[in-house]
Amino acid sequence: MIAKIVAERLKSQDEVALSKGISSKSISTEGISKETVSSEGIFEDMDTAIEAAYQAQRTLFEKSLEFRKKITNAIKAELMLHVEELAMLAVKESGMGNVKDKIIKNTVAIEKTPSVEDLMSGVFTGDDGLTLLEYSPFGVIGAIAPSTNPSETVICNSIGMIAAGNAVVFCPHPGSYKTSNLAIKYINKAIKSVGGPANLVVTMLKPSMAAVETMMHHPLINMLCATGGPSVVKAVLESGKKAIGAGAGNPPVLVDETADIEKAARDIINGCSFDNNLPCIAEKEAIVVDEICDYLIFNMKQNGAYELTDKVLIQKLETLVFKSEGVLNREFVGKDAKYILDKIDISVGDEIKAIIMEADKDHPFVVEELMMPILPIVRVKDASEGIDLACKLEHGLRHTAMCHSKNIDVLTEMAHRIQTTIFVKNGPSYAGIGVGGEGFTTFTIAGPTGEGLTSAKSFTRRRRCVLVGGFNIK
Ligand code: NAD
Repeated sequence: MIAKIVAERLKSQDEVALSKGISSKSISTEGISKETVSSEGIFEDMDTAIEAAYQAQRTLFEKSLEFRKKITNAIKAELMLHVEELAMLAVKESGMGNVKDKIIKNTVAIEKTPSVEDLMSGVFTGDDGLTLLEYSPFGVIGAIAPSTNPSETVICNSIGMIAAGNAVVFCPHPGSYKTSNLAIKYINKAIKSVGGPANLVVTMLKPSMAAVETMMHHPLINMLCATGGPSVVKAVLESGKKAIGAGAGNPPVLVDETADIEKAARDIINGCSFDNNLPCIAEKEAIVVDEICDYLIFNMKQNGAYELTDKVLIQKLETLVFKSEGVLNREFVGKDAKYILDKIDISVGDEIKAIIMEADKDHPFVVEELMMPILPIVRVKDASEGIDLACKLEHGLRHTAMCHSKNIDVLTEMAHRIQTTIFVKNGPSYAGIGVGGEGFTTFTIAGPTGEGLTSAKSFTRRRRCVLVGGFNIK
């Protein structure tokens, strides 16, 4: 399914038209209705929501692993019915991203988030007997979700956290909470359909910072998991509770002279325009060896890039997308290239997916995480200088980086030195979360706290059970 969608994306130059085609289906984009309150995990008050999740977790705790698998299978089956609806609501509500790519993101969250199979027990046997290493739930987890992946994060976290035996209290972003809440409503419907406990996944009817504060310090919350920018990661780390922090990135992509330049150009433009550059993993700046830079730019333009060369226009774009130094104008986050170009009086067709320009290594487009399909290109003399610069521009966030090269030494050195959680070789950034690349997916990439690509196991406590002097059959 995902392979099919990716193949479509790679050959498509008409994604905007495609995404418009989807809108022919009549769906409700009003989010949740009043009657879903409390019956489908949605509460008016945070204390009541947490209490309900606590009770649900007690019930789940007594059930088998097979039953958890049944629940996560039901969630996957139910949510597959709603990917278009969730994608469309997210774009409408947040004003960011595009429907076609949000369908891919929701689909991959459903199909490739691991369930209980992630909880592989460990064992030690020897002269002194047998020791089991097993994964137990934390209890109730407080999860904070971003506006950039409002349903994907809810789907992915819910599957992993429930598979691990937990209940979840979500605090979605105020700018996209209806989408998150709609996903939560469908998740509870799915859980109910297989006889699972009500309110295993809960949230608030309307988000507020007061509710987030209550959740972060509530005694029944055993773990926090924040997916978002630096501020929310800092907040959970200061809470005093066990916290997973999945924060911002500024992923560089390096291209050297040995790379397949045509493919590199296509992959980079596809990656940096995916959901209009909202994903934290998306290419945010290209670092290119001088020798092949002109040819790469030529090929980027063959694949939907519009190049700005006029310094006045580049300055105009900078003034547009930054409110002040280092402060983004949120109006342009997640907007498409055509919309952004139109604001600087450049009219282009729907085939334009990204805006590129050559830039100095200290330019704000290079240094800041824009989350817009604007890709600055910095020339370097060779791969060695490129790796140095990539490490600097990643800011030590340990998030994501890409490299296009056929030189194994360059690929190895960059992967080793940059120490990102995800490192993609010769592919678009989204291959790193399982879209056209091997491996499971996650929408919570915890660089700062080190869990990396979170999965069910990340939401457990590792426990040991020791039997002395028995069950050793060597
Ligand atoms: P954001 O930081 O504005 O909001 C994220 C969530 O945190 C929201 O629910 C928000 O209400 C809450 N929040 C913000 N400040 C808070 C505070 N001080 N205390 C408590 N809660 C707070 O992020 P966004 O704009 O929705 O998402 C984009 C950011 O998230 C980007 O920086 C992106 O790189 C990052 N992100 C990271 C990952 C990852 O897995 N590492 C995934 C998605 C997004």
